Amino acid sequence: IVTRQRQLSYLVLEPRLRDEIVQRYKLLQDLNAALENDALFLMLQPKVHLKSGRVVGFEALIRWQDNSGHFIPPDQFIPVAEAVGLIGKIDQKVFEMTISAAEQLYHLGYQLPVAFNVTCADLTTPQFVSNLLVAIERMSIPTDMLALEITESQTVADYEQVNPILSKLIKLGLSVSIDDFGTGYSSLAHLTNLAATDLKIDRSFVDAMQNGSNGEHVVEMIIKLGKRFGFDIIAEGIETEQQRNMLIEKGCMFGQGYLLARPMPLQQVMSWLALQPQIEQATV
Ligand code: C2E
Ligand code: MG
Ligand code: MG
Ligand code: MG
Repeated sequence: IVTRQRQLSYLVLEPRLRDEIVQRYKLLQDLNAALENDALFLMLQPKVHLKSGRVVGFEALIRWQDNSGHFIPPDQFIPVAEAVGLIGKIDQKVFEMTISAAEQLYHLGYQLPVAFNVTCADLTTPQFVSNLLVAIERMSIPTDMLALEITESQTVADYEQVNPILSKLIKLGLSVSIDDFGTGYSSLAHLTNLAATDLKIDRSFVDAMQNGSNGEHVVEMIIKLGKRFGFDIIAEGIETEQQRNMLIEKGCMFGQGYLLARPMPLQQVMSWLALQPQIEQATV
């Protein structure tokens, strides 16, 4: 009977669903190959002090160039990687590349931290965490030159599991940003025991921000409350002067977005930095 049921369920599999499974499987194979062939690389996007325009650090964003030379955006493969359990491998590669980028910048004399992105699942994997701790210990630069961004979680249970790890990383000197803040589980009470150093206001709120709009009120609330609890606030996806000015006016200190600078490969970051008037090359 079981065999018969199985056969039946094969038969009723919709072609659309079957195509999707085949496509996912292919993506998984390609991703595995990409990991082995170094087809994954990083772009760095500057984080900027809004009032002065001074660069205060970078965020590392993963890119994948497939065999045919096309760039596949992370939104298209990170969720799949999460679903099939490949995200840990990818994110390990990402923090290794991030450390390498941070080291290169530091040794050029720039004391600018570089942040990498992780998903909650990474930090609930003991192997991932211990690999990260070993890598931090081996870094040739101060620990505060490395930072981490974790997407705001959907469940309280996740926080109970990752909070102690985030605390440990903060104690070691890393900054921890709660990414896409406002989109996940964020009860106000919960803010008081969040192990983080800063909140990143999600781009959707910055996008929706016009004078008098609900978006404006949400942004205002996050900034006020976040600061009240001692977090640095950084807004993402700033594309217009008006957005930048409104954020400054509301007391948001830092920002990221195409208006300020696009994500760039490390080589380009180096020439970009050389053109920044506000930043002095420290001697190390
Ligand atoms: P995120 O961490 O919130 O990153 C911000 C995204 O917004 C980036 O897209 C960035 O290129 C884009 N962005 C920055 N400024 C602007 C702007 O002014 N306008 C617009 N429209 N977009 C802007 P990207 O690189 O495609 O990354 C998308 C998401 O993929 C990231 O969102 C992050 O959640 C995830 N991701 C990226 N790299 C990694 C990684 O190494 N590991 C993991 N687990 N996730 C990653
Ligand atoms: Mg991020
Ligand atoms: Mg973000
Ligand atoms: Mg985002």
